[in-house]
Amino acid sequence: MEASNSALVSHLINAGYLKTGRIIRAFERTDRRLFVPKEFEMHAYIDEPLPIGGGQTISAPHMAAIMTELLKPRRTDTVFEVGTGSGYQAAVLSGLVKKVYTAEVDRKLASFAARNLKKAEIKNVDIFLKDGSEGLEYYAPYGKIIVTCAMPEMPRAMISQLARKSILVAPVGTGRIQELVRAIKSGDRLETEHHGACAFVPLRSAGPV
Ligand code: SAH
Repeated sequence: MEASNSALVSHLINAGYLKTGRIIRAFERTDRRLFVPKEFEMHAYIDEPLPIGGGQTISAPHMAAIMTELLKPRRTDTVFEVGTGSGYQAAVLSGLVKKVYTAEVDRKLASFAARNLKKAEIKNVDIFLKDGSEGLEYYAPYGKIIVTCAMPEMPRAMISQLARKSILVAPVGTGRIQELVRAIKSGDRLETEHHGACAFVPLRSAGPV
């Protein structure tokens, strides 16, 4: 069992999930304990997903690490995230980019994330209580888009909200196991890569619950 956030980060480095210096430092600065429910605090530094209420989970740290590395975050990026959940992924990204806009469809989770981000003293993340499946047109275009719930297919609306040079990372598939996909946009070209299997909770398309 990992006894501290820095032990967890060492595990993510040793296992090859974390590679980039500034991403490693962002994971070091983001104490995962602040983003899990009180009853699971003793498990915060284990590399496993944990329940956060409403049948949802905070992703396993290695999945947050893989997605953050794939996203190649830059200091000047504006990021859109679908699926705020606990706020942990948004918190990691907040230290690497200019601004994070994140959409959460579950009212209780949106306020859970807001409390967690406040505890972590993070100020450049804005949470929107809304269905994020069509993106967030208002602040587009985005340098980076990260989807942390399973999309049944490549999210067309979000792709149209990407900047001319940009990256989208999303789990795509309808089953319990999906494919982690990275789309790299460069001008009019869109290149799609597959990065292995993953298991995210499915996107919910109903309005706020
Ligand atoms: N990124 C989160 C983990 C996300 S779990 C973290 O770091 O903790 C997936 C989340 O996606 C859940 O909170 C779920 O409520 C949310 N979600 C599902 N469908 C959604 C939709 N259509 N729009 C926005 N959020 C959605």
